[in-house]
Order: sequence, then structure tokens, then C-alpha cells
Amino acid sequence: MRRSATAAALLLVLVGSAYAQDTSSALGPVKDGTLPSLTTIAGQGMMDSHAFAYLTELSDDIGARVTGSPAMWQAVDWGTAKMKAMGLQNVHTERYQVWKGWTRGTAEMEMLAPRKVRLHVDAMGWTGSTPEGGADGAVVPVNLYQIDQEVKSSADWKGKVLLVVTKGSPPSDRSALFAKFGPFLRTARQAGALAVIGGQGGAPSAGMNLTHTGILGFSEDFAVPVLSMTREDQGLLQRELDKGTDIRVHVNVQNTFTPGPVEAANVVGEIRGSEHPEQVFVVGAHLDSWDLSEGSTDNGCGAVAVLDAARAIVSAGVTPRRTIRFVLFTGEEQGLLGSFAYVKQHEAEMANHLGDLVLDGGQGPIEGVSLGGRDDLLAAFRPFVKSLGSFRDLTLDDRIEFGTDTGPFSLQGLPGINLDNGSDEYRFTHHSAGDALEAVDPDVLAQNATLMALTAYWIADRPDRLASPWPAERTAKKFVDTHQDGMLKAFGLWPFGRQTGGN
Ligand SMILES: [Zn+2]
Repeated sequence: MRRSATAAALLLVLVGSAYAQDTSSALGPVKDGTLPSLTTIAGQGMMDSHAFAYLTELSDDIGARVTGSPAMWQAVDWGTAKMKAMGLQNVHTERYQVWKGWTRGTAEMEMLAPRKVRLHVDAMGWTGSTPEGGADGAVVPVNLYQIDQEVKSSADWKGKVLLVVTKGSPPSDRSALFAKFGPFLRTARQAGALAVIGGQGGAPSAGMNLTHTGILGFSEDFAVPVLSMTREDQGLLQRELDKGTDIRVHVNVQNTFTPGPVEAANVVGEIRGSEHPEQVFVVGAHLDSWDLSEGSTDNGCGAVAVLDAARAIVSAGVTPRRTIRFVLFTGEEQGLLGSFAYVKQHEAEMANHLGDLVLDGGQGPIEGVSLGGRDDLLAAFRPFVKSLGSFRDLTLDDRIEFGTDTGPFSLQGLPGINLDNGSDEYRFTHHSAGDALEAVDPDVLAQNATLMALTAYWIADRPDRLASPWPAERTAKKFVDTHQDGMLKAFGLWPFGRQTGGN
């Protein structure tokens, strides 16, 4: 990932001329000649959608597919077979390594005092175990908003279960708080804490008696067991603690780490461009999932949208001027590992990339497009977004999304374009036992896949090249200006060097 100053200067020279073209054309599909092809693709996408059939196979025949697990490899084989069957070119897998593997085991908790109550918990990914058979301990609160103070009394944490709470006013810099969570967990382990409750970093679960698993950093694991507890049970514990009740629990958590590195792979297939096959636009979503259910909404929906977008374009019998490369990433849930690996493996080709397009917001309808920091592309995008108005009025902005596989492309100065599809239900299904096929509406999925196909094709086929990478300095400045740099620096992901962009 790290780009040296010399390489950055070279890149500046290479892209200098293409850079001037970025804003040259603001024609939409009606005027730029892409409308006939887009109309045919829309027909294929909406009249012959395969998306829900794909999602049913992925959810029910494979199910949960944690990065590095046998099920992930099954999903990789499945995605490869689908790409080949629909006639994509250069279908292959690209291997990379994950720092270590992890398998979920037991997670049980029972309140023993002041009365017996079964508490609902699940382990966060890549976190550890209690002694075999579990142990009993007192529950003590740790205020995340005063975490610097709290860790000073970590000597008192031996044999305790730490409940993360948020009391008082939050510190102004939330991302700094997130960055302190990992060091807090390491201190808890060193102090001999039995477990930490509060996998969401202090925020309660969504409710409906659901837990939400997930990773606690980028490529980070923690020996202390970290638990997500249902909102209902966490509320009970907090009310008891507020009353001054002494709470004792029995906790038993057993997970297994696999020594690393562990193999993983992205799945790649292409529609080669007719005029500029060397110029590549990536269309992607992550194929891996968490393991409390089938992973249909996160991100089965995105993965099958990528596949059905490809199928719709192939079936329409049209060929874009530039190459569309469809990528099913893995390792997203452990810190965007697949997309970081892609960017690294294709480093020499990055100047020829136009950006990437990602769908990873769950089961809701696409309501907007975010251009990943590239404000210079807003004008070019406006008429295209308007042309989709018969689906619905879509919003358009240049927001950077670092919570999914757009992040590594945005760091390269390319537009990491996110299709924004939030929904009220997603906060319940996200990484929870509710993340199953029942949560997905086939009509919405077909529409989302079609919108993905249209966006991809329009970008790859428009007469002018949409984008070239920004120089590193300009990208760094954009990340600083939008306050994204603090979090990236805290997690060791800042590739621009300390001197670039200040602080
Ligand atoms: Zn996701």
C-alpha cells in the first residue's frame, strides 16, 4: 500500500494529461450515445433477473462464509463457475493471505446474582476464549468516554467481566475513541479480565434480542473474549449496575484461532473493452460474510448484484469501449483485505484504472451515488443520475466510504463509487442472526443489480474516460479535509507519509 514519494511524483507526471479531461464532458446517456445499450441492459436486468435465484443458492447451498473458512472456498468456486457460465472473459481467482484464521465456538453467559437469568451473547470475530468450561466473575462498568482514566485502574479488572458503557458527554473526536478500543482490549487481557461485553464499542445492539458480530479493527485479533450482547440484556445489566447491585455471571466462550497466514482469494472476470481494453473499471462487492446466519444482506445482495449486472450486460449483447472487471472480494469483514490485496496486486495497472463501483449497504433500494472523494466528477455524473429518474430520484455526492471495498480505491486517488442503499431493516440484519434470505425483497434486488449494471456500463462506455487517479498529494488533502485521516493513521493505513496533509 505504501507509496513512496518518488512513485507519487512519477504518477503525477503520468496522469497529468489525462487529469485535465476529467471534467470535460457532462453529457448524459441521451447525448453521449450510450442510451440504446443502456436501454437493452435495463431490459435484461429487469425482465430476466437472475439475482434472487443466485442469492438463494448462495444463502441456502453455501450459507455463512467467513474469510479463510471451507465455506468461503465453496463460495469462491461458486462465483467462479457463475462467471464462466455467463461467458465472462479471463475468469480466475487471485489469492492473497490473511494474517490468521478464526472459527466460532461456544458463547454462553448466565447471570448468577442478583438472580438467575440467561444472557444472550455472541463473540466478536477474531477474539479469544475464557478458560475451558468458563468461569464466574463480577460485572464492572468501564466508561468508554473516559477510557484514558479507566485503564489507569486496570489492576482491578482481574477475574472481572467488563461491561462497556457510555456515560457523560462523548469526546469530540469519535474516530480517536474507536482507535482507543483496541489498546483497551489488550490492557483488559493483560490485567486478567475474563471477558469484555460491548463488541459494538459501547453502542447498544439494535434490539429484537439480536447480537451483532464483527471485527474490531483492520486485520486485528484480540486474546480477550469480546462479546456482543443483546440490547435487552445489556439494558438489564446497566440498570442493575446503576442501582449499585453486585452482579455475578458465569461466562464460557470458546473460539479457535488458526495460525496464519491463511489463504483467501478474490474472484475476477471481465468484459473486455472494444476500444481501450487496457482501461479498467472495477465493479465489486464482497462475497465473504459473518457467521450468525446466511449472510444474505451482508453482502450476498451485493455479490449477486455484481454477478447479475455482468449477466445483464453480456445478455444484452453490447460491448463497452473500456474493460469492466467484475470482482467478488473476500476478507472485507476483516478489514477490506481483498480490495487492499487487489490494489496491491494490480499496482502497475492502477494508472489505467477508472475507479470502482461497490454495493454493500444491505437489502434496501439504492437511493444515491457517492463518488468517493472525487468532487471533480460530480458535473459529469449529474446528467447520468438524472437519466435514472424513472427508478427514483437518486442523490449524488462525493462522500468517501471507507467502510467497504471502495476505501482502498479512494486511497489510490480513484473514485471509489458507492451505491448508497440504506434501509431501516439493515440495522437489525447487520452481522446478526437475522441476516438471512427472508430479509431480502426480490424486486428491490433486481432493481439494484440493474442500477449497478447501468452505472458500470455507462462509465465504461462513455466517449470520454471518466477518471484517472489523482496525484497522491491531492488525495491526501481530500482525506484530511474530510477528516478521514485520523482514523486511517490510528489503524496504520495512512499511505501518504506523515509530512503529507499535516497533523
Ligand atoms: Zn458488508
